[in-house]
This record gives sequence, C-alpha cells and structure tokens, in this order.
Amino acid sequence: MIPGPIELEPRVTAALAQKTRSHVDPSFIEDHGDALRRLREVAGASACFPFIVPGSGTLAMELAIANLVEPGTRVLVVHTGWFGDRMAEIVRRHGGAPTQLRAPIGEAPTPDELARALEKEPAAVVTITHVDTSTGVRADLEGLARAAKRAGALVVVDAVCSLAAERLEQDAWGLDVVLAGSQKALGAPPGLAVLTASEAALAARRARAHAPASLYADWAEWMPIMTAYLEKKPSYFATPATGLVSALLESLRMVTAEGRELRAARHARLARGLRAGLAALGLHFIPRDETLSANTLSAVSYPQGIDPSLLGAVKERGVVLAGGLHPEIKARYFRIGHMGAVSEGDVVAVTSAIGQALRALGHPCDPGAGLSALAQALG
Ligand SMILES: *Cc1c(COP(=O)(O)O)cnc(C)c1O
Repeated sequence: MIPGPIELEPRVTAALAQKTRSHVDPSFIEDHGDALRRLREVAGASACFPFIVPGSGTLAMELAIANLVEPGTRVLVVHTGWFGDRMAEIVRRHGGAPTQLRAPIGEAPTPDELARALEKEPAAVVTITHVDTSTGVRADLEGLARAAKRAGALVVVDAVCSLAAERLEQDAWGLDVVLAGSQKALGAPPGLAVLTASEAALAARRARAHAPASLYADWAEWMPIMTAYLEKKPSYFATPATGLVSALLESLRMVTAEGRELRAARHARLARGLRAGLAALGLHFIPRDETLSANTLSAVSYPQGIDPSLLGAVKERGVVLAGGLHPEIKARYFRIGHMGAVSEGDVVAVTSAIGQALRALGHPCDPGAGLSALAQALG
C-alpha cells in the first residue's frame, strides 16, 4: 500500500502479457484511440485534447511546461509539498521565472491568497499540485483554479496522485492542462505520461515564436499522432509503449465502468475509515485537518518514541508502506497509499498491521480500538 506504483487489478496485469503488437496494427490503433477517449472522460475533459506519451509522471509535468513556458514566462507555483519544488525546477529549466506561493507544511494556500499573489505579481501560468504525494495534502483545486482564471492565467494541474480517484472536472473548473502518470490512481503500470489540454493551452503553444527546445516534449509533434489514433489511422512520431497502452486501456475501462463519481466516493469513504482507525490508535497526520487530506494517500507522523523501524514491523505483518518524502520532515512520518484497486479489506489489514506493530514496538495502543473506529466510520 504505497502511493505508487500501485497494485494492479488482475485484468490489467493480464493485458500486459499480450504479444507485442505493431504500432500500426489496426487493433492497436483502435485500442490507443479508445484509451485517449476514456482518458478524456476520466478527466471530465470532453473539450480538451488528450495525449498519451511513453514516460513517467515527471515527463507529463515537462510536457506541460515545455509547451507553455518560454524564456521569461512568469509562472506561479502553488506549493503544497515537494512536487511544487520539482515543478519550479522544470519551469526554470525551460527558461521561465517561477515564484512559489507557499503554506506551512500540511497546509495549502487558499484561493484568496492566490488572488492576492497574482494581483501583486501577475503570472501567465499557475501550476497547482492537486494532491501532493509528499505531504498527503489535497489543495482546493476548484477554488484555486477559479482565482487563477480570474487573473487571466493558464492553469496547469499536476494530478499524478489524484486523476481517477479525486473529484476533478477539467472543463467545468476551467483547468487548462491536467497531467498524470499511469502508475498511481489511474491503476496501470508505470511508464506512461498522460495529459489533457484545453483549446486555450493549445492556442498558447501555437502562438509561440519558437518551438520548445525539446522535440520529444513538443505537443505539435504528438498532436497529429494522437489525432490519427482518434481517427483510427496509422501514424508514427516516436514508438508508442504498446504493451503499456493495452494495460492502461484495461484500467481505464474499469475506471469508466465504475464511474468517476462513484470511484471518487469509494476513495473518500475508505480514506475516512482508515484515518478514523489510525486516529483511534493515537496517530496524527501531516495535513492539518480532514478537508486538506487526500483520499488517495495518508501521511502519518510517527508517534513519540517510534522511528522508521515501524515500517519493517508492519511489513512483517504483510503490509508494505512508504517512508517520508518531504526533505524537511522525511524521518518524522510515513505514507500509506490507498488508491485504485484498494478495498475495505485492505484498509482493515493496514490498520490491524499498524496497531499490532506499534504495540510490539512498545507504543501503548489498542489495535482493537483502531479496528472498531474504522468499522464505525465505514458505517
Ligand atoms: C509521483 C508524482 C510525480 C512524479 O511522477 P513520476 O512518475 O514519479 O515521474 C509528480 N507529481 C506528483 C503529485 C506525484 O505524486
């Protein structure tokens, strides 16, 4: 139960076992087009243009910035954790001028704070990490995007740890770019960068005086290819990751069959239940309160007297968790991923394993109390 790469549904694993198909095989073209259409559906992005490109989530960030940022472009990065620093660095690499709007660790800047920052120093692009996987903080994406749009900025959303699990409405909320990687809430193996771009974002790319310095990251190179897939025609720019596209399609079929609203509600319920169980064990979280807490992962502080050896003790009980990631607090907390194929049984198993491991390490707690609080919260 780590926050990516996540465990795959058996159907997704089975899709990976197919023979490699040619990238111009009609059945592959059909599948790639289907995956693009479903990606759009999952992001609520029927007015947007979809991309699926071989690479990780970081490439998806780069695919957004390389096209929207030119030397001197002002970018405001809404910082809720370590992935904001990464975004700022990518902006810098492409010659842009990033400013970070920060909040204390475990909190997020508010839409009012964003509006004031943009008034003081306008920006052409605002980036928002929907869920920062280093802190477990979920930003108020809808409110922040509204403030950014009102100031005339393009909105880029890092949804690597939220797309297909948290509520996200690209068209309705005016998000210009939604980007993600395949291995988190999308439920596929690592290796694909995905992105959906609004007409305004595509127009900003067309209006550039110079093409992006990276050929591979240039939307203009990929758009004819994605268009060909959508129109069921063969095409080539760079070899698609054929096996990964098959696996992603299988996962997207499951996401769209479940329905994105029900899927978001399932994640919310399990996250609430898990955190109620852990709170009953006496644990505290990095996000300041439940409204700032992601439904895809939980960032949990080690209690007094307990150190990262807890993760080994939990693993002995059959559950794999992740350590800290935010450099300033790395050794003080751990992370539990609960996205994609996660079930009630999984959150019960992790609550039970943590309770028993804490007690074995001498921390006073009642594992049974954790489980009953969890059961009660699940209703
Ligand atoms: C994981 C993650 C990334 C980076 O994705 P990679 O696939 O590891 O390159 C970026 N942003 C967020 C919010 C993430 O969770």
